[in-house]
Amino acid sequence: MILEVRALKLILERKGNSVVLVDDLNFTLGAGKTLCLVGESGCGKSLTALAIMGLLPPGIKRLSGQIIFAGQDLTSLSSEALRRLRGARMAMIFQEPMTALNPVFTIGEQIAEVIETHEGRRRSEALARALELLKAVGVPAAEERLHAYPHELSGGLRQRAMIAMALACSPELIIADEPTTALDVTVQAQILDLLRQLRKEKGLSLLLITHNLGVVAEMADEVAVMYAGHLVEVAKTKDLFERPLHPYTMGLMASLPGPKERLSPIAGQVPPPGAWPEGCRFRGRCRYEEELCLVPPELREISPGHHSRCHLAGRFLVSGGKTNA
Ligand code: SF4
Ligand code: MG
Repeated sequence: MILEVRALKLILERKGNSVVLVDDLNFTLGAGKTLCLVGESGCGKSLTALAIMGLLPPGIKRLSGQIIFAGQDLTSLSSEALRRLRGARMAMIFQEPMTALNPVFTIGEQIAEVIETHEGRRRSEALARALELLKAVGVPAAEERLHAYPHELSGGLRQRAMIAMALACSPELIIADEPTTALDVTVQAQILDLLRQLRKEKGLSLLLITHNLGVVAEMADEVAVMYAGHLVEVAKTKDLFERPLHPYTMGLMASLPGPKERLSPIAGQVPPPGAWPEGCRFRGRCRYEEELCLVPPELREISPGHHSRCHLAGRFLVSGGKTNA
């Protein structure tokens, strides 16, 4: 196992008040595997990623819980030790590479910088390695692109450059937060192919954050579905698609565009932190809600490896929601 998140709780502190943003979060990622963290925006996926990287924004802090990476508890490390770990053993890819790339340095300079910092190599060696990396991630005319500035590249090429930078120090874990969301469909497929290929060749573990179930189906070994700050379903990908065990997951699937089905998005919106309903947090949007749902459901293992946080889980027969209750 490369990553384990245990009972993670993140809060926002503001004017003496604190609001829970993420809580009771538990998941594991096996070495060489891909885990997809899925949910609508605002559910806490990105914050979870930032917490793992030790990059939580100001005002947001970890109240409790552990993050175990390759056997060590990251929450007990100094910020200096964490900084050394980032880039060297774990790296992050963002949705919009422009926010992560520095506009005033060339692509080559930025990748070389990472290599110099973490491996203490000389600039000329680091630049040569940067060029190799750009070629490895499929950047055409890599010699030219090495000297280009971020704004001179297309969105797809910038994302490849970002991936090259993430790979610069051969990390064991890559966290990718919506890495293809800003790209058009063709480029999106190419980037996903690249990530899959890298995972295979380099034995990388991938924590992939997405709101897109199509991406999940293609990429994930395992899926963790988040809703309103906690997990509502965790399963192997095949099991999740064959037999979703939470009404929220079913709703996400029903809103997938299919050949025949109509798009039926889940009614209502994810409640913001601080305004989560009592009991089950999916109350108000759930078509199966009953009185029992005022009691907060626990995440329970319904069948081997398949967990759901719904009182009715196990009573659902098929996706679409028939129950034998
Ligand atoms: Fe719906 Fe109740 Fe299950 Fe929550 S516990 S998802 S409200 S049926
Ligand atoms: Mg996000």
